[in-house]
Amino acid sequence: MLSTLIRIFFGVDMALGFFNYAAWSWIVGNKFSIWFLLLSIFSTHLPDTDMIPYLLFRRRYRLISHWVLGHHPLLVLPLVATVSFGAAKVWIPDGLGYTVAIVTTGVFLHFVHDGMDSLGFPWLSPFSMIQFRFQSGKFSVVPQKEIDEWRERATLWMQRGSSAADEISGRTPPMTLAQLLFWGVGIMALVIFIMESSYRNHAA
Ligand SMILES: [Zn+2]
Repeated sequence: MLSTLIRIFFGVDMALGFFNYAAWSWIVGNKFSIWFLLLSIFSTHLPDTDMIPYLLFRRRYRLISHWVLGHHPLLVLPLVATVSFGAAKVWIPDGLGYTVAIVTTGVFLHFVHDGMDSLGFPWLSPFSMIQFRFQSGKFSVVPQKEIDEWRERATLWMQRGSSAADEISGRTPPMTLAQLLFWGVGIMALVIFIMESSYRNHAA
């Protein structure tokens, strides 16, 4: 459990949350806010909250992937943009565009990260389940054979009856050096932004 939390903390989605926050705040010229930073981190993880219904219902519906609710870009992205627009209109009317941009780009970056996987990502879902992958600078369609092989392995895994803890740790791969470096650069971007924005506010 602890190792899973550490992997999430040092994960790629966490670093993407730092980058997303620093980039939009710098573009808009906002000062540092822990709440918008947390909102950005929340949005780069948001699609994976479909792990919760997956863990609850995987046995009943014989699910082999947690990509059931949160991983349909053509549905989720407009939905997230609309909901964040509505919520910001009520609670953060003077930060409307900023809030929508942080949340929608955060969710989009999560999908980009999922799309780096060798099995690819269904970018046109729910309208088409074709999986596209982006590897070594090239965008391509994942051959059906590879997907079928993965399905077979995942079905066996399901039939063996894995525990919820196995499910989560099995889906958070061990940390790599490249990942830690990426995380480090993300933290640096965040620190540079915080220093720059406090300097800007003192100068103004
Ligand atoms: Zn995901």
